[in-house]
Amino acid sequence: MADGKFGTAINCIDGRTQNPVSQWIKENYSVDYVDTVTEPGPDKVLLEVNIEKIEQIKSKLLISIKAHNSSLIVIAGHHDCAGNPVLKEEHLTQIKKSINMIKSWNFPVKVVGVWVNDQWKVEQIQE
Ligand SMILES: [Zn+2]
Repeated sequence: MADGKFGTAINCIDGRTQNPVSQWIKENYSVDYVDTVTEPGPDKVLLEVNIEKIEQIKSKLLISIKAHNSSLIVIAGHHDCAGNPVLKEEHLTQIKKSINMIKSWNFPVKVVGVWVNDQWKVEQIQE
C-alpha cells in the first residue's frame, strides 16, 4: 500500500486544467496526491456510447482505488475545452450526468464534480 492519502481525478488532457484541479482536490479533500486519468473532454466521454473507452477509464480508476486506496473520484469539465466545445451550461449538465454514471459503478469512493472556470479557478458542482 502506498504512503499518503490519494484522490483520483478524471480530467482533460488540457495542460491548463491539471494543476488547478489537483491543487483544489488537495486543499478541499485533504489528500496528498492526485492520480489523474486524462481524456479530451472527459465530461463528454463518459456519456458517449463507447463501451471500450469507458471500460478503459474504469480499469484505470480501479488501479488508483486498489493500489493507492483512493477514496475520492473527481470528474472535471472546463472552460475553452477543445475536446468538448459546448456552452458552460451544457458542461454543467454533462458533469452532473457523469457523476451519476460514476456512482452507478459502485466503487467504494466519494464522487465529486468540478468546473474549471474562465479564470482557471475550480468550482464544485452542486448536484
Ligand atoms: Zn479540455
